[in-house]
Amino acid sequence: MKISTENINFDHYQQESKKTAIYPKDIGLYYVVMGLCGEAGEIANKTKKLARDHGGVLTEDMRNSIIHEAQDCLWYLAQLCTELNYPLALAAEENLKKLADRQARGVLGGSGDAR
Ligand SMILES: [Mg+2]
Repeated sequence: MKISTENINFDHYQQESKKTAIYPKDIGLYYVVMGLCGEAGEIANKTKKLARDHGGVLTEDMRNSIIHEAQDCLWYLAQLCTELNYPLALAAEENLKKLADRQARGVLGGSGDAR
């Protein structure tokens, strides 16, 4: 697997990361959703400890630690898209379209999925 930021795109990432997806396929959807929540929780916990133990000062070590958890989230997100038979690249594209539409209508802020 040749890795550089120049040849990484969402399709490539989804295909390559799938090769490392070792979990029971009969519970795949549940496995990846719980895993994604777990990794997001790790980000939350580390950020909590950043505030509690480090006065909110983001050191290079803490930054790297949180980045590693973000990378783990990306892996689980890619597997979630795979479980849903949905291209990660399309998720990115559709999300950008949604955000651009909201920006154009002046509703980036606020709440509600359908705004
Ligand atoms: Mg992790």
